[in-house]
Amino acid sequence: MMIKILIVDDKTENIYLLQSMLDTNGFKTISAKNGAEALGLLRTVIPDLIIADILMPVMDGFTLCRECKKDELLKNIPFFFYTATYTDSKDEEYALSLGADRFILKPQDPDDFMKIINDFLNEVKKKTVHPKDTIQQTEDIVLKEYNEVLIRKIEDKMLQTEKAEKELRRYAEQLEKEILERKKNESSLRNSEEYNRLLFTTSPVGLALCSMDGSLIDINPAYARIIGRTIEEVLKLKYWDITPEKYMVQEAEQLKILKETGHYGKYEKEYIHKDGHLVPVLLQGLILDRDGDHFVWSSVEDITERKKAEIALKESQHLFQTLSQVSPVGIFRTTADGKTTYVNPKWTELSGLSHEEALDSGWLKAVHPEDGGKLSESWIKNLKSKNESSAEYRFLHSDGSLKWVLGKAVPEMVGNDIVGYIGTITDITKRKLAEEDLQINEKQLSTIYKTVGDVIYYLVIESEGVYRFISVSQTFYNVTGLSPEMIIGKLVTDVIPEPSLSVVLGKYKQAIEEKTNIKWEETSEYPTGKLIGEVCINPVIDRNGICTHLVGSVHDITSMKLAEEELTKAKDKAEESDRLKTAFLHNISHEIRTPMNSIVGFSELITDPDLTSETRNEFIKTIVQSSNQLLSIISQIVSMATLEAGQVLIYEKEVSLNSICKIVFDQLRSEAIGKNISLKYNTALPENEDKIITDETKLIQVISNLLGNALKFTKTGSIDFGYVVKANYLEFYFNDTGIGIPNDLQEKIFERFRQVELSLTREYEGSGLGLSISKGYIELLGGKIWLTSTLGEGSKFYFTIPYMKASLNKISEEKLTDKYVLKKTITILVAEDESNNFKLLTKYLSNDHIVVLHACNGIEAVEICKKSKQINLVLMDLKMPEMDGFEATKRIKVFRPDLPVIAQTAYARDVDKTKAFSCGCSDFLSKPYKKEELLTMINEYLTSA
Ligand code: ADP
Repeated sequence: MMIKILIVDDKTENIYLLQSMLDTNGFKTISAKNGAEALGLLRTVIPDLIIADILMPVMDGFTLCRECKKDELLKNIPFFFYTATYTDSKDEEYALSLGADRFILKPQDPDDFMKIINDFLNEVKKKTVHPKDTIQQTEDIVLKEYNEVLIRKIEDKMLQTEKAEKELRRYAEQLEKEILERKKNESSLRNSEEYNRLLFTTSPVGLALCSMDGSLIDINPAYARIIGRTIEEVLKLKYWDITPEKYMVQEAEQLKILKETGHYGKYEKEYIHKDGHLVPVLLQGLILDRDGDHFVWSSVEDITERKKAEIALKESQHLFQTLSQVSPVGIFRTTADGKTTYVNPKWTELSGLSHEEALDSGWLKAVHPEDGGKLSESWIKNLKSKNESSAEYRFLHSDGSLKWVLGKAVPEMVGNDIVGYIGTITDITKRKLAEEDLQINEKQLSTIYKTVGDVIYYLVIESEGVYRFISVSQTFYNVTGLSPEMIIGKLVTDVIPEPSLSVVLGKYKQAIEEKTNIKWEETSEYPTGKLIGEVCINPVIDRNGICTHLVGSVHDITSMKLAEEELTKAKDKAEESDRLKTAFLHNISHEIRTPMNSIVGFSELITDPDLTSETRNEFIKTIVQSSNQLLSIISQIVSMATLEAGQVLIYEKEVSLNSICKIVFDQLRSEAIGKNISLKYNTALPENEDKIITDETKLIQVISNLLGNALKFTKTGSIDFGYVVKANYLEFYFNDTGIGIPNDLQEKIFERFRQVELSLTREYEGSGLGLSISKGYIELLGGKIWLTSTLGEGSKFYFTIPYMKASLNKISEEKLTDKYVLKKTITILVAEDESNNFKLLTKYLSNDHIVVLHACNGIEAVEICKKSKQINLVLMDLKMPEMDGFEATKRIKVFRPDLPVIAQTAYARDVDKTKAFSCGCSDFLSKPYKKEELLTMINEYLTSA
């Protein structure tokens, strides 16, 4: 029998749902819409189970349950509550307390629900369960509890209703919104379709829709463009028509992936362009379902440019790689703080490190320890300034060898920051070695430059005819007197003076044109004076055969040349001298022979006893004149020799100028009268102020010479002489109206042996020595001598001497006027070994007041002096046997220091005079001397004594 189940629920769908479930499981169901209807139904039908909702109109489930449990007929019918409203445990508790068998909450999984039903019914069948007894409670309590539950439920329900209402409102609003949205969407959908179409047509990316078999259904213009066709043309093709054969395998794979996953790509392939070339493309796509059909929707990107760029990049990478591999310079890359990230093979070769060893800071190990500091300093400096860095340093290899490199690095910038460096190192070892060699060479060159005797200079040829000094030897400065600033870097035209410059430039040009060295002799004027040099200029030819530099040398031959010149002059002079000497010898032999002839001739004649005393006196006079003439000649020769030997000494003493003039005037007056020539003299100083300090003998000799010449070379007219005072010197003059002297000889006649007239048949006698002796003496006295003359009209000779006034010490008039008259007896010792000389002296001294003693040598002289204390004066010949006059004087002076000793000698050398004075002699007489000279001197000593 089918089990009948009463379903009580106010909701039709609930009843329908339960009925469906229970029917499906083989139960029979009846239903009521509320408790009251159920109770009515239960009058006619007794079900096996009642399943009731709780909250229902007319009569709720609780009341139904309570009514059933109160009814004897109904109380054993199992009662299940099935509720979605009463979910509280208290509700369950209350429901069970009313006698309900199960309290099932809605919704319940159909299987679970059916299991609960079946399990319960099985238990009922097995009689393991009995319909529950109702807990008999009083009506009041039941009502009260029921009411509480109900009120609570109503409250809940109200809350739920409110909530539901709210929910409903919200839903309504939502719905309204949705409706609006939908309306909007509908229009945007329409817009979006247009938009999509627009996108499709304007997209730069190719888009294509094709069927799974490869038929192209729709494509955009970009797609058509990629393969160089119109859309219409493309749509006639299949996908496979534009895919090269080689991609078929790949395409099959992609198709497989597409089918498995619904999409494919991205992947690269090529399309066949209309013109046949292949266009690289990047593809991706997905499967589209349209009305159950599958389509492939693809996007295609033309990657020609990218591919080109990739190829270019690859090429550039390849290029870099190749260059880097074969580069003759080392290449490196570092981080900003100098950590190496890359080096090329050349770098490793130069550093001696492997690529791995060089990485990071490893490269520093290879840098020479002395250069490391310098290198990092410059690195830091450049890092700060963000400059390109450049440094020369050394790599020290493990085998001890060195490599010099020039390292250059440029910063790699990102924005303003240095992120690293890329640089090169170039092997400069050879250059460095060459530089070292160059330095050594330069040192050597500079040493050569400093020490070489010749002038050496190095010129650069800047352009035609433009030569600039690069370097010169030290001798260049020494010889020219120019400083380095005046030469180095200067043009030849600024350094070498004309007229040498023109010659030099011509020679340079010749050397360059002929490409050979040129030698010549050159004379230049520099601040240091004249430079005569043997110049040699060598062109320096470069490898192109062009002359780039000139090396010049100058061998200074100035002194050699000057010596040569001097030699030539000396030779000329010697030849001239020789000529003059020959002439002189002729003259002199004439000058000597003439008086000698007279002396010898008349000396013979004078012995003739038949001569009258008048004739004899005439002869004697001639002999005396000739002797004087001879003496004068010999004196001149001796004076000249002494002058030339540089042995003339000056003996200065107080001299009366006017007296000297008078003496010379007196000597020549008679000769002038004889020639009918007017002879006058003039003295500028008054008698008592005419004393000066000078060498009297020499002054007299000069005046005599000049006056003698005037007289000799004047036939008629007049001669006047004298002196004038000029500032601090005295000027003597000698004017004559004689023959005059030609201009070209006016200077030369002061040379020894010079005479205007050199012929053998000359009219004027003379040795040609007078003027040169006069010149020598005047210069020794501190003056000069000159002349002016007009040929045929006369000559004017002048000389000067210093005007050194003497103190007003008067020379006794007496001495001069009475010079030969001695008033008291005096004793004179004559030391003379030559008996003739002694005889002559005895004659000179024959006077009543003079006693003459004779000593034949020095020893005798000393002895006599010792014995004869009365000796007042000694005339000492210097050259004597046994003991000479020097020694004898010395000895005499020991015991007679005040005794005047007058030396006399035929050696009229000044050295002898000096020696005599140093031995104690008071004065000196050169033999031969005249009687007057002797007596004047004796008078001088004995009067002052
Ligand atoms: P010397 O008179 O013995 O020949 P000097 O040396 O005194 O030698 O003079 C040299 C030359 O100078 C003379 O030979 C003469 O030619 C010339 N001379 C000197 N003085 C005069 C003068 N007053 N008038 C003309 N010629 C003179």
